[in-house]
Amino acid sequence: MKILAVNCGSSSLKFQMYEMPEENVLISGVFERIGIENSFYTIKINGEKIKKDVILNNHEDAVRILVDELLERKIVDSLDEIKGIGHRVVQGADKFDKSVLVDDSVLKTIDELSSLAPLHNPAALIGINAFKEFVPNASHVVVFDTAFHQTMAKETYLYALPYELYEKYGIRKYGAHGTSHKYVTEFMNNYYKENKKLIVCHIGSGASITAVKDGKVVDTSMGFTPNAGVIMGTRTGDIDASIIPYLIKNLDYSADDIDKLINKESGFKGITGGISDSRDIEDGIKAGNEKCEIAQKMFVRSIVNYIAKYYVLLNGVDAICFTAGIGENSILTRQNIMDSLSCLGVTIDNDANSNRGKFIKVSGDDSKIDCFVVPTDEEVMIARDTFEIVK
Ligand code: ADP
Repeated sequence: MKILAVNCGSSSLKFQMYEMPEENVLISGVFERIGIENSFYTIKINGEKIKKDVILNNHEDAVRILVDELLERKIVDSLDEIKGIGHRVVQGADKFDKSVLVDDSVLKTIDELSSLAPLHNPAALIGINAFKEFVPNASHVVVFDTAFHQTMAKETYLYALPYELYEKYGIRKYGAHGTSHKYVTEFMNNYYKENKKLIVCHIGSGASITAVKDGKVVDTSMGFTPNAGVIMGTRTGDIDASIIPYLIKNLDYSADDIDKLINKESGFKGITGGISDSRDIEDGIKAGNEKCEIAQKMFVRSIVNYIAKYYVLLNGVDAICFTAGIGENSILTRQNIMDSLSCLGVTIDNDANSNRGKFIKVSGDDSKIDCFVVPTDEEVMIARDTFEIVK
Protein backbone atom coordinates (compact mmCIF):
# COMPACT_ATOMS: atom_id res chain seq x y z
CA MET A 1 0.00 0.00 0.00
CA LYS A 2 1.36 3.44 -0.94
CA ILE A 3 1.43 5.93 1.92
CA LEU A 4 2.68 9.51 1.79
CA ALA A 5 4.14 11.14 4.92
CA VAL A 6 3.93 14.93 4.88
CA ASN A 7 5.44 17.61 7.11
CA CYS A 8 4.25 21.14 6.31
CA GLY A 9 6.04 24.14 7.77
CA SER A 10 5.05 27.75 7.23
CA SER A 11 7.33 27.98 4.18
CA SER A 12 8.26 24.37 3.49
CA LEU A 13 6.74 21.01 2.66
CA LYS A 14 8.66 17.80 3.24
CA PHE A 15 7.37 14.49 1.92
CA GLN A 16 8.30 10.84 1.82
CA MET A 17 6.35 8.15 -0.02
CA TYR A 18 6.45 4.60 1.29
CA GLU A 19 5.41 1.17 0.14
CA MET A 20 3.87 -0.23 3.32
CA PRO A 21 4.14 -2.37 5.33
CA GLU A 22 7.64 -3.01 3.93
CA GLU A 23 8.59 0.63 4.72
CA ASN A 24 10.42 0.98 1.40
CA VAL A 25 10.96 4.64 0.54
CA LEU A 26 9.88 5.24 -3.08
CA ILE A 27 10.61 8.95 -3.29
CA SER A 28 11.26 11.80 -0.86
CA GLY A 29 11.89 15.50 -1.05
CA VAL A 30 11.31 18.97 0.18
CA PHE A 31 9.77 22.16 -1.20
CA GLU A 32 11.45 25.21 0.27
CA ARG A 33 10.86 28.95 0.46
CA ILE A 34 7.14 28.60 -0.33
CA GLY A 35 5.65 32.08 -0.67
CA ILE A 36 9.12 33.66 -0.70
CA GLU A 37 11.36 34.52 -3.67
CA ASN A 38 13.93 31.94 -4.94
CA SER A 39 11.75 28.96 -4.11
CA PHE A 40 12.86 25.50 -5.20
CA TYR A 41 12.40 21.82 -4.53
CA THR A 42 14.62 18.81 -4.26
CA ILE A 43 13.63 15.20 -4.71
CA LYS A 44 15.50 12.02 -3.96
CA ILE A 45 14.73 8.96 -6.01
CA ASN A 46 16.80 5.77 -6.50
CA GLY A 47 19.75 7.38 -4.72
CA GLU A 48 19.70 10.37 -7.09
CA LYS A 49 19.06 13.92 -5.86
CA ILE A 50 17.39 16.40 -8.23
CA LYS A 51 16.97 20.14 -7.55
CA LYS A 52 14.64 22.41 -9.49
CA ASP A 53 13.98 26.15 -9.17
CA VAL A 54 10.26 26.90 -9.43
CA ILE A 55 7.81 29.58 -8.39
CA LEU A 56 5.95 28.39 -5.29
CA ASN A 57 3.39 31.04 -4.40
CA ASN A 58 1.67 28.79 -1.88
CA HIS A 59 1.43 25.21 -0.62
CA GLU A 60 -1.07 24.33 -3.39
CA ASP A 61 1.67 25.02 -5.97
CA ALA A 62 3.95 22.59 -4.13
CA VAL A 63 1.29 19.86 -3.96
CA ARG A 64 0.42 20.32 -7.66
CA ILE A 65 4.09 19.85 -8.63
CA LEU A 66 4.47 16.92 -6.27
CA VAL A 67 1.54 14.96 -7.74
CA ASP A 68 2.82 15.68 -11.28
CA GLU A 69 6.25 14.35 -10.32
CA LEU A 70 4.70 11.19 -8.82
CA LEU A 71 2.84 10.51 -12.06
CA GLU A 72 5.65 11.47 -14.45
CA ARG A 73 8.20 9.39 -12.59
CA LYS A 74 5.77 6.46 -12.54
CA ILE A 75 5.85 6.22 -8.74
CA VAL A 76 2.09 5.80 -9.22
CA ASP A 77 0.07 5.22 -12.40
CA SER A 78 -2.93 6.90 -10.83
CA LEU A 79 -3.21 9.09 -7.73
CA ASP A 80 -5.85 6.64 -6.47
CA GLU A 81 -2.98 4.30 -5.63
CA ILE A 82 -2.10 6.62 -2.74
CA LYS A 83 -4.33 5.14 -0.06
CA GLY A 84 -3.22 7.25 2.88
CA ILE A 85 -1.56 10.59 3.53
CA GLY A 86 -0.18 11.21 7.01
CA HIS A 87 0.29 14.81 8.14
CA ARG A 88 2.51 15.93 10.98
CA VAL A 89 0.77 18.36 13.35
CA VAL A 90 2.84 20.10 16.01
CA GLN A 91 0.15 20.82 18.61
CA GLY A 92 -2.66 18.45 19.56
CA ALA A 93 -2.64 19.60 23.22
CA ASP A 94 -4.70 17.28 25.46
CA LYS A 95 -7.26 16.75 22.71
CA PHE A 96 -5.37 13.94 20.96
CA ASP A 97 -3.38 11.13 22.57
CA LYS A 98 -2.93 9.26 19.28
CA SER A 99 -3.01 9.74 15.52
CA VAL A 100 -6.51 10.01 14.02
CA LEU A 101 -8.34 10.02 10.72
CA VAL A 102 -9.11 13.55 9.53
CA ASP A 103 -12.72 14.73 9.59
CA ASP A 104 -14.28 18.16 9.94
CA SER A 105 -14.26 18.12 13.73
CA VAL A 106 -10.56 17.11 13.81
CA LEU A 107 -9.73 20.00 11.45
CA LYS A 108 -11.72 22.39 13.63
CA THR A 109 -9.87 21.29 16.76
CA ILE A 110 -6.46 21.67 15.07
CA ASP A 111 -7.53 25.15 14.02
CA GLU A 112 -8.67 26.01 17.56
CA LEU A 113 -5.28 24.91 18.88
CA SER A 114 -3.47 27.36 16.59
CA SER A 115 -3.08 29.86 19.44
CA LEU A 116 -0.70 27.31 21.05
CA ALA A 117 1.31 26.82 17.83
CA PRO A 118 0.68 29.91 15.71
CA LEU A 119 3.25 29.12 13.02
CA HIS A 120 2.80 25.37 12.78
CA ASN A 121 -0.85 24.35 13.11
CA PRO A 122 -2.12 26.75 10.40
CA ALA A 123 0.61 25.46 8.02
CA ALA A 124 -0.48 21.87 8.65
CA LEU A 125 -4.10 22.80 7.89
CA ILE A 126 -3.10 24.44 4.62
CA GLY A 127 -1.20 21.27 3.70
CA ILE A 128 -4.09 18.96 4.58
CA ASN A 129 -6.55 21.03 2.54
CA ALA A 130 -4.20 21.17 -0.46
CA PHE A 131 -3.71 17.40 -0.46
CA LYS A 132 -7.46 16.83 -0.04
CA GLU A 133 -8.01 18.85 -3.19
CA PHE A 134 -5.38 17.11 -5.33
CA VAL A 135 -5.67 13.56 -3.94
CA PRO A 136 -9.37 13.43 -3.03
CA ASN A 137 -9.63 9.65 -2.75
CA ALA A 138 -6.85 9.19 -0.18
CA SER A 139 -7.60 8.92 3.54
CA HIS A 140 -5.91 11.62 5.59
CA VAL A 141 -4.41 10.98 9.01
CA VAL A 142 -2.94 13.50 11.45
CA VAL A 143 0.03 12.57 13.62
CA PHE A 144 0.60 14.86 16.59
CA ASP A 145 3.98 15.82 18.05
CA THR A 146 2.35 16.10 21.47
CA ALA A 147 0.45 12.77 21.49
CA PHE A 148 3.24 10.58 22.90
CA HIS A 149 3.58 12.92 25.90
CA GLN A 150 -0.06 12.55 26.93
CA THR A 151 0.86 9.87 29.48
CA MET A 152 2.46 12.39 31.86
CA ALA A 153 0.86 12.54 35.30
CA LYS A 154 -1.02 15.64 36.36
CA GLU A 155 1.61 16.57 38.96
CA THR A 156 4.13 16.53 36.11
CA TYR A 157 2.29 18.55 33.49
CA LEU A 158 0.77 21.24 35.74
CA TYR A 159 2.54 24.52 36.42
CA ALA A 160 2.30 26.05 39.89
CA LEU A 161 0.07 28.82 38.56
CA PRO A 162 -3.53 29.50 39.59
CA TYR A 163 -5.43 26.32 38.72
CA GLU A 164 -8.00 28.15 36.60
CA LEU A 165 -5.30 29.10 34.06
CA TYR A 166 -5.01 25.38 33.40
CA GLU A 167 -8.75 24.69 33.51
CA LYS A 168 -9.91 27.66 31.47
CA TYR A 169 -6.98 28.25 29.11
CA GLY A 170 -5.15 24.92 28.95
CA ILE A 171 -1.90 26.37 30.32
CA ARG A 172 0.11 23.24 31.14
CA LYS A 173 3.04 21.22 29.84
CA TYR A 174 2.43 19.51 26.48
CA GLY A 175 5.96 18.72 25.27
CA ALA A 176 7.06 18.33 21.66
CA HIS A 177 9.14 16.09 19.36
CA GLY A 178 6.85 13.25 20.52
CA THR A 179 7.04 11.42 17.19
CA SER A 180 10.82 11.27 17.43
CA HIS A 181 10.83 10.26 21.12
CA LYS A 182 8.35 7.50 20.30
CA TYR A 183 10.45 6.25 17.39
CA VAL A 184 13.57 6.01 19.58
CA THR A 185 11.59 4.38 22.41
CA GLU A 186 10.16 1.68 20.13
CA PHE A 187 13.53 1.17 18.48
CA MET A 188 15.32 0.67 21.83
CA ASN A 189 12.64 -1.52 23.39
CA ASN A 190 12.80 -3.68 20.25
CA TYR A 191 16.57 -3.81 20.54
CA TYR A 192 16.42 -4.92 24.18
CA LYS A 193 13.34 -7.10 23.51
CA GLU A 194 11.76 -5.64 26.65
CA ASN A 195 10.63 -2.24 27.90
CA LYS A 196 13.55 -0.40 29.48
CA LYS A 197 13.92 2.81 31.46
CA LEU A 198 15.14 5.30 28.88
CA ILE A 199 16.23 8.91 28.69
CA VAL A 200 15.86 10.09 25.09
CA CYS A 201 17.85 13.20 24.18
CA HIS A 202 16.45 14.68 20.95
CA ILE A 203 19.02 17.39 20.38
CA GLY A 204 18.88 19.35 17.15
CA SER A 205 18.47 23.09 16.76
CA GLY A 206 15.34 22.46 18.83
CA ALA A 207 16.06 20.09 21.71
CA SER A 208 14.07 18.09 24.24
CA ILE A 209 14.84 15.39 26.77
CA THR A 210 12.26 12.75 27.68
CA ALA A 211 12.06 10.18 30.48
CA VAL A 212 10.35 6.93 29.38
CA LYS A 213 9.27 3.92 31.42
CA ASP A 214 7.24 0.93 30.16
CA GLY A 215 7.19 2.56 26.73
CA LYS A 216 5.39 5.62 28.13
CA VAL A 217 6.50 9.19 28.73
CA VAL A 218 6.92 10.06 32.42
CA ASP A 219 8.28 13.58 31.86
CA THR A 220 9.67 15.74 29.09
CA SER A 221 11.67 18.95 29.09
CA MET A 222 9.62 21.05 26.68
CA GLY A 223 6.56 22.65 28.18
CA PHE A 224 3.54 24.71 27.24
CA THR A 225 5.60 25.55 24.15
CA PRO A 226 8.89 24.25 22.72
CA ASN A 227 10.72 27.14 24.38
CA ALA A 228 11.06 25.33 27.71
CA GLY A 229 13.77 22.92 28.82
CA VAL A 230 17.34 22.85 27.61
CA ILE A 231 19.25 25.63 25.85
CA MET A 232 18.78 25.44 22.06
CA GLY A 233 20.08 27.03 18.84
CA THR A 234 18.03 30.19 19.27
CA ARG A 235 15.72 29.44 22.25
CA THR A 236 16.43 30.23 25.88
CA GLY A 237 15.25 26.98 27.43
CA ASP A 238 14.21 27.40 31.09
CA ILE A 239 14.67 30.93 32.44
CA ASP A 240 13.37 32.83 35.46
CA ALA A 241 9.92 33.98 34.29
CA SER A 242 10.34 37.32 36.07
CA ILE A 243 12.91 38.38 33.49
CA ILE A 244 9.94 38.92 31.17
CA PRO A 245 8.01 41.56 33.18
CA TYR A 246 11.38 43.18 33.90
CA LEU A 247 12.03 43.57 30.15
CA ILE A 248 8.51 44.88 29.60
CA LYS A 249 8.68 47.44 32.40
CA ASN A 250 12.25 48.60 32.07
CA LEU A 251 13.22 48.06 28.44
CA ASP A 252 9.85 48.60 26.78
CA TYR A 253 9.56 45.14 25.25
CA SER A 254 6.20 44.20 23.68
CA ALA A 255 4.75 40.67 23.73
CA ASP A 256 5.98 40.15 20.16
CA ASP A 257 9.44 41.43 21.08
CA ILE A 258 9.57 38.95 23.97
CA ASP A 259 8.42 36.12 21.74
CA LYS A 260 11.15 36.91 19.22
CA LEU A 261 13.77 37.36 21.94
CA ILE A 262 13.19 34.04 23.71
CA ASN A 263 12.58 31.95 20.57
CA LYS A 264 14.76 33.46 17.86
CA GLU A 265 17.48 35.55 19.45
CA SER A 266 18.60 33.50 22.46
CA GLY A 267 20.26 30.14 23.10
CA PHE A 268 23.56 29.61 21.25
CA LYS A 269 22.80 32.64 19.10
CA GLY A 270 22.16 34.96 22.01
CA ILE A 271 25.16 33.88 24.06
CA THR A 272 27.65 34.06 21.16
CA GLY A 273 26.18 37.13 19.48
CA GLY A 274 25.04 35.35 16.30
CA ILE A 275 26.25 31.74 16.10
CA SER A 276 23.30 29.34 16.32
CA ASP A 277 24.59 26.22 14.55
CA SER A 278 26.37 23.65 16.67
CA ARG A 279 28.96 23.00 13.93
CA ASP A 280 29.93 26.69 14.00
CA ILE A 281 30.04 26.58 17.81
CA GLU A 282 32.51 23.69 17.56
CA ASP A 283 34.60 25.57 15.00
CA GLY A 284 34.54 28.59 17.32
CA ILE A 285 35.78 26.48 20.23
CA LYS A 286 38.66 25.20 18.09
CA ALA A 287 39.52 28.79 17.19
CA GLY A 288 39.54 29.80 20.88
CA ASN A 289 36.27 31.76 20.84
CA GLU A 290 35.40 32.18 24.52
CA LYS A 291 31.70 32.76 23.92
CA CYS A 292 31.42 29.53 21.95
CA GLU A 293 33.14 27.72 24.82
CA ILE A 294 30.73 29.12 27.40
CA ALA A 295 27.71 28.45 25.16
CA GLN A 296 28.71 24.81 24.77
CA LYS A 297 29.28 24.47 28.53
CA MET A 298 25.85 25.95 29.27
CA PHE A 299 24.22 23.73 26.64
CA VAL A 300 25.81 20.56 27.98
CA ARG A 301 25.03 21.50 31.57
CA SER A 302 21.38 22.10 30.77
CA ILE A 303 21.12 18.64 29.17
CA VAL A 304 23.01 16.91 31.98
CA ASN A 305 20.74 18.61 34.55
CA TYR A 306 17.70 17.04 32.88
CA ILE A 307 19.37 13.64 32.64
CA ALA A 308 20.20 13.81 36.38
CA LYS A 309 16.65 14.84 37.22
CA TYR A 310 15.17 12.02 35.13
CA TYR A 311 17.63 9.49 36.55
CA VAL A 312 16.09 10.18 39.95
CA LEU A 313 12.53 10.33 38.60
CA LEU A 314 12.91 6.93 36.90
CA ASN A 315 14.74 5.51 39.92
CA GLY A 316 17.74 4.64 37.75
CA VAL A 317 17.99 4.32 34.00
CA ASP A 318 18.99 1.55 31.57
CA ALA A 319 19.88 3.61 28.52
CA ILE A 320 20.51 7.18 27.41
CA CYS A 321 19.85 7.76 23.69
CA PHE A 322 21.15 10.60 21.54
CA THR A 323 19.20 11.57 18.44
CA ALA A 324 18.52 14.45 15.96
CA GLY A 325 21.11 16.69 14.26
CA ILE A 326 23.43 17.28 17.23
CA GLY A 327 22.71 14.01 19.05
CA GLU A 328 23.47 11.96 15.95
CA ASN A 329 26.42 13.98 14.68
CA SER A 330 28.19 15.97 17.37
CA ILE A 331 30.96 13.80 18.76
CA LEU A 332 32.03 16.63 21.09
CA THR A 333 28.58 17.17 22.60
CA ARG A 334 28.06 13.47 23.31
CA GLN A 335 31.51 13.25 24.82
CA ASN A 336 30.92 16.31 27.01
CA ILE A 337 27.59 14.90 28.22
CA MET A 338 28.91 11.41 28.94
CA ASP A 339 31.99 12.83 30.71
CA SER A 340 29.68 14.83 32.98
CA LEU A 341 27.82 11.63 33.91
CA SER A 342 30.86 9.73 35.21
CA CYS A 343 29.48 10.01 38.76
CA LEU A 344 26.58 7.80 37.61
CA GLY A 345 29.07 5.22 36.33
CA VAL A 346 28.85 6.24 32.66
CA THR A 347 31.97 5.43 30.66
CA ILE A 348 32.61 6.25 27.02
CA ASP A 349 33.86 4.18 24.08
CA ASN A 350 35.77 6.86 22.19
CA ASP A 351 36.15 4.79 19.02
CA ALA A 352 32.42 4.13 18.84
CA ASN A 353 31.67 7.76 19.69
CA SER A 354 33.72 8.95 16.71
CA ASN A 355 30.88 7.76 14.42
CA ARG A 356 28.15 10.00 13.10
CA GLY A 357 24.60 9.34 12.00
CA LYS A 358 24.31 5.61 12.65
CA PHE A 359 22.93 3.36 15.35
CA ILE A 360 25.78 2.52 17.68
CA LYS A 361 26.48 1.99 21.38
CA VAL A 362 28.83 4.75 22.45
CA SER A 363 29.24 3.86 26.15
CA GLY A 364 32.03 1.59 27.33
CA ASP A 365 31.42 -2.09 28.14
CA ASP A 366 31.89 -1.29 31.84
CA SER A 367 29.39 1.61 31.77
CA LYS A 368 26.59 1.36 34.35
CA ILE A 369 24.22 2.98 31.85
CA ASP A 370 24.19 2.11 28.13
CA CYS A 371 24.46 5.12 25.84
CA PHE A 372 23.43 4.93 22.19
CA VAL A 373 23.23 7.02 19.07
CA VAL A 374 19.84 6.30 17.49
CA PRO A 375 19.12 8.12 14.21
CA THR A 376 15.52 9.26 14.42
CA ASP A 377 12.92 8.72 11.70
CA GLU A 378 9.81 10.82 12.21
CA GLU A 379 8.58 10.18 8.65
CA VAL A 380 8.41 6.42 9.07
CA MET A 381 6.41 6.92 12.28
CA ILE A 382 3.92 9.05 10.34
CA ALA A 383 3.73 6.35 7.65
CA ARG A 384 3.28 3.56 10.22
CA ASP A 385 0.43 5.32 12.04
CA THR A 386 -1.23 6.23 8.75
CA PHE A 387 -0.94 2.68 7.44
CA GLU A 388 -2.38 1.22 10.67
CA ILE A 389 -5.39 3.55 10.53
CA VAL A 390 -6.01 3.29 6.79
CA LYS A 391 -5.61 -0.46 6.41
P1 ADP B 1 15.85 20.87 13.69
O1 ADP B 1 15.11 19.68 13.09
O2 ADP B 1 15.42 21.21 15.09
O3 ADP B 1 15.94 22.05 12.78
P2 ADP B 1 18.17 19.16 13.36
O4 ADP B 1 17.77 17.93 14.08
O5 ADP B 1 18.21 19.15 11.87
O6 ADP B 1 17.34 20.42 13.88
O7 ADP B 1 19.63 19.56 13.91
C1 ADP B 1 20.30 20.70 13.49
C2 ADP B 1 21.56 20.84 14.34
O8 ADP B 1 22.39 19.68 14.14
C3 ADP B 1 22.40 22.05 13.99
O9 ADP B 1 22.77 22.75 15.17
C4 ADP B 1 23.61 21.44 13.35
O10 ADP B 1 24.75 22.20 13.58
C5 ADP B 1 23.72 20.11 14.09
N1 ADP B 1 24.64 19.23 13.35
C6 ADP B 1 24.43 18.63 12.16
N2 ADP B 1 25.56 17.97 11.77
C7 ADP B 1 26.48 18.18 12.75
C8 ADP B 1 27.84 17.78 12.95
N3 ADP B 1 28.49 17.05 12.04
N4 ADP B 1 28.46 18.18 14.08
C9 ADP B 1 27.84 18.95 14.98
N5 ADP B 1 26.57 19.36 14.86
C10 ADP B 1 25.90 18.99 13.76
